[in-house]
Amino acid sequence: MKILVTGSAGFIGYHVARRLIERGDSVVGFDNLNDYYDPALKEARLARLDELGATQGADYRFIRADLADQGAVDAAFGDHGFDRVIHLAAQAGVRYSLEDPRSYVASNLLGFTNILEACRHNGAGHLTYASTSSVYGANTKMPFSEHDGADHPLQFYAATKRANELMAHSYSHLFALPTTGLRFFTVYGPWGRPDMALFKFTRAILAGEPIDVFNNGNHSRDFTYIDDIVEGVIRASDTPATPDPDWDAAAPDPAGSNAPFRIFNIGNSEPVKLADYIDALEEALGKRAIRNFLPLQPGDVPDTYSDTTLLTRATGYRPSTPVREGVARFVAWYRDHYADQPDRKAAR
Ligand code: NAD
Repeated sequence: MKILVTGSAGFIGYHVARRLIERGDSVVGFDNLNDYYDPALKEARLARLDELGATQGADYRFIRADLADQGAVDAAFGDHGFDRVIHLAAQAGVRYSLEDPRSYVASNLLGFTNILEACRHNGAGHLTYASTSSVYGANTKMPFSEHDGADHPLQFYAATKRANELMAHSYSHLFALPTTGLRFFTVYGPWGRPDMALFKFTRAILAGEPIDVFNNGNHSRDFTYIDDIVEGVIRASDTPATPDPDWDAAAPDPAGSNAPFRIFNIGNSEPVKLADYIDALEEALGKRAIRNFLPLQPGDVPDTYSDTTLLTRATGYRPSTPVREGVARFVAWYRDHYADQPDRKAAR
């Protein structure tokens, strides 16, 4: 299989590319290594992919380029395109979208359009792309199910991701492009993102600094371990995007199209209170946190909880990593790979 993985210097993209190289696929990575968080961490991930590619004698190469550059995206596809595209590059992060919304437009809207167009014109057997649980906004109907309540995202980041789903829907209808959107639920684990809570908390606790605990630690998140996510992403990409009849049941396409379009939640289906997540981290670190309790932030949602029935039914996906175990594995990685660099500016 010839597979393009965008965002391969990023947290999830790195792990996905790794697994594909290990199983013998031909992999092209694509990333601009932007400085939203510590670029040295992205370089370190890429160095490990290079090393793995070399030791396995794999057909692996990396392209450093920007998604918003149409020529670069088209050139990556070449004349023959890909059997599959796993599109994980994006401007991520909820809070930063209040500060720099234009970077979300460039990467997530223009960049995604370039990917869709390249798939349409140069060929892609199946486009699997990253969406987010944030599309559910303040939806309180738990657990979140795909056909319900995703039309009122609160954050700008989430709005761009919901737009991606609608754009993919259009391309699936108009050009029969098979697309699968994956709504990720708070992914964590080794090689994780420095702008996310687990990384920030670990750093602060080890430094003896206080941690900001929003909503007084009362909100819950469906924290999902990276290995489970990788398994789900690859299973989804490997399964053909057969049409989901329920999507268009309310308003069928008058031209009679039967678009190969689907969206799946990909989570752990076991929400954990933030306060308990911090307890697990304290246990793994063997050190207590100084908790600075704060109210819910604008745009933050109180709870997330995935219903993953559709993904399980289509692919056999079954997450299996309990939070305590996953947090301990993150801490072991952090101690080995990051703890000696406390002065490095980790994230915005
Ligand atoms: P990440 O920031 O670690 O990875 C994204 C990668 O995309 C980065 O390496 C970045 O350099 C690259 N990138 C950004 N803009 C680019 C551009 N214009 N051109 C080329 N490369 C660009 O984030 P992640 O956690 O690995 O997330 C992967 C995907 O999953 C993203 O689409 C994100 O929005 C989505 N997601 C992640 C989570 C999570 O919990 N980690 C939750 C929901 C959704």
